[in-house]
Amino acid sequence: MIEGGCACGQVRYRSPGPAKFALRCACRSCQRDSGGGHGTHVALPRAGFEVEGETASWRRAGRSGLGVTKVFCPACGCPLYGLPERAPWAAMVAAGSLDDPGQIAPGRVVYREEAPPWDLLPPEEKD
Ligand SMILES: [Zn+2]
Ligand SMILES: [Zn+2]
Repeated sequence: MIEGGCACGQVRYRSPGPAKFALRCACRSCQRDSGGGHGTHVALPRAGFEVEGETASWRRAGRSGLGVTKVFCPACGCPLYGLPERAPWAAMVAAGSLDDPGQIAPGRVVYREEAPPWDLLPPEEKD
């Protein structure tokens, strides 16, 4: 079971897993969400993903034309997960909201070119 929640404890979520992948996204939207140079997200199956507590959300229009519904806690503002229209099977959970953020291993970096020069990202993987 993979579990997490917001900073104030009002919202809790759980997933039977497994985590499909985890990545870092340095797009400007994830910078704003995370308050840092990039966001780190883990893709959990939406099937079996359960949420308790009141949430709030907004829809960000994606560059592909498909958007993402970003869900957060209305009390503390903590970003919790995104529901991408492009991947309806997935809940993209904000890694920092996991009870144990050490349980995932983020691989790829996307939108690296948008990262600010001071952000610390792992070196580009060579194929
Ligand atoms: Zn909260
Ligand atoms: Zn992003």
